Amino acid sequence: MVNLILFGPPGSGKGTQAAKLVEKYNLLHISTGDLFRYEMGNDTPLGKEAKSYIEKGELVPDEVTVGMLRNKVEANPDVQGYIFDGFPRTIAQSEALDKLMAEKDTAISALLMLDVPDEEIIKRILERGKTSGRADDLDETIIQNRIDVYKSETSPVFDYYGKQDKAEKVDGVGSIEEIFDRLCASVDKL
Ligand code: ADP
Repeated sequence: MVNLILFGPPGSGKGTQAAKLVEKYNLLHISTGDLFRYEMGNDTPLGKEAKSYIEKGELVPDEVTVGMLRNKVEANPDVQGYIFDGFPRTIAQSEALDKLMAEKDTAISALLMLDVPDEEIIKRILERGKTSGRADDLDETIIQNRIDVYKSETSPVFDYYGKQDKAEKVDGVGSIEEIFDRLCASVDKL
């Protein structure tokens, strides 16, 4: 199995690249952001809880996020591998993911980080906000909070997988195809 973590700040292009990687390598795409938006769209209890955090640009608590992720993985056992997008976002989530993979007799193969400067990120998110229908993409204070949370809580995940010799940075500036080619070069080395 090939199990990838697509990593990077909000608006770094994870969703766009994940869709392309899934097609090329036949992996199951699991995006915690998409899962939360689905739950919020259906106004489920999980969606209602998640909404109170997401609309402030905060992280949804680990227990809630890990439980949802586990359900999704367990509902799809017969796959060639997973691509995790937007997860893990904390060290606790990373430990939970490693444990879940070990239970399935597999492991994370690599964490690929899309490296994009802050100014570019804010520009991209505001642009996306015009059409995404996402309230968290429209307000510059919320976007800044997401970036701050990324720096304080999420970026340590890079070092966590770095210690396992699995973390790699990929230049996330350029055309969609250029960035995709860089990611594929890293996956093909695995
Ligand atoms: P982005 O475009 O900022 O990368 P996502 O679409 O992945 O955002 O997620 C949107 C929001 O959902 C996040 O800002 C966060 O509030 C919540 N969320 C997504 N994934 C996680 C996670 N792994 N842990 C906690 N909260 C999460």
